Amino acid sequence: MRYFAQRLFDGLVFKSNQVITVKNQKIVSVEQGTADEADTLLSGLVAPGFIDVQVNGGGGKLFNNEPNLATLETMSRAHQTFGTTAMLPTLITDNLATMTLAANAVALALTNKIPGIIGIHFEGPHLSSPKKGIHPESHIRPISEKELALFKRKDLGVVCVTLAPENVSCDVIKELVSSGVKICLGHSNASVEQTLAAIDAGATGFTHLYNAMSPLTSRAAGMVGAALLRDEAYCGLIVDHEHVDKVSCQLAIKCKTSEKIMLVTDAMSHVGSNQTLLTFAGMEISRTGNKLTIEGGRLAGSALDMATAVRNTVTNLDTPLDQTLQIASSTPAKFVELQNTKGQLSEGYDADWIVLTDDLHVTQTYIGGKQVFSV
Ligand SMILES: [Zn+2]
Repeated sequence: MRYFAQRLFDGLVFKSNQVITVKNQKIVSVEQGTADEADTLLSGLVAPGFIDVQVNGGGGKLFNNEPNLATLETMSRAHQTFGTTAMLPTLITDNLATMTLAANAVALALTNKIPGIIGIHFEGPHLSSPKKGIHPESHIRPISEKELALFKRKDLGVVCVTLAPENVSCDVIKELVSSGVKICLGHSNASVEQTLAAIDAGATGFTHLYNAMSPLTSRAAGMVGAALLRDEAYCGLIVDHEHVDKVSCQLAIKCKTSEKIMLVTDAMSHVGSNQTLLTFAGMEISRTGNKLTIEGGRLAGSALDMATAVRNTVTNLDTPLDQTLQIASSTPAKFVELQNTKGQLSEGYDADWIVLTDDLHVTQTYIGGKQVFSV
């Protein structure tokens, strides 16, 4: 199949009048051409599909509440309508039985080639209670051989684990990293020294920078200080204007550059559904506008989608469009080490792209050369 894109961002630069040739779900070539050479005309800006490394739910389903294949299909379909072509379904701190069900569901999704599912993100359970957010205290615990074995499974695709480095030793971090697990630091009260030691042990990411982590202050640089200081570390950022101040977002993007900031949604089940109330671990999470809170007003994940995060970043943070599209796609692709297959539209890459209007709304989504969403 050949597609004509009048405007295309290939992950690095903007181009015009491009013909994309696709065979066996891969891009064979992207070359200058004319509309007559193509089977299908893509009208709008064609860009690499968004990659979201933190998705708790969507389409009315929360992964923790129903950790099965049907939930993953629903979540992926819901987020495809907002341009996400690859995601890490994310399990909030839970018991081992639920973690195992979630892992089994992801393994099945990968076997069945469910579009958009590339692995799993375990957010917890080895977190810090003072920074737990909505993670159930009763399930926060030290790591044991059982969780280690689960994280090291080889049938889960990309495995990411968010942990608090004050509660997991550097030796365990090294062991997980050597098994191919991506370690993110977060929900943590660690000192800057503990955080830097965890990075030296192989941790490569920070989960929702600024939120639920020790802050940068005059006499204690905290986890935020370490995250901003160390160039090699990737940082997820929730740009819904509820979680992080706009200037703090701008500062992070300036400091880390588009090479290391990743737009994430931290979406709960509300995204892509009309749901207003969700029950999770005995808590009622309600939606007011774009904000999800539990009783008392504490933030409980987000109602953000990737397209909105992109619009917020361009419009309200004044980040150039090319950089914004990178932090929504090629940068997370590098973080999950899929930079040779995802995050770019060029020869040999997966045919995962989206079509955007001038005001950055998604009109079409393709995964593996197949249209999975169209307005
Ligand atoms: Zn979190």
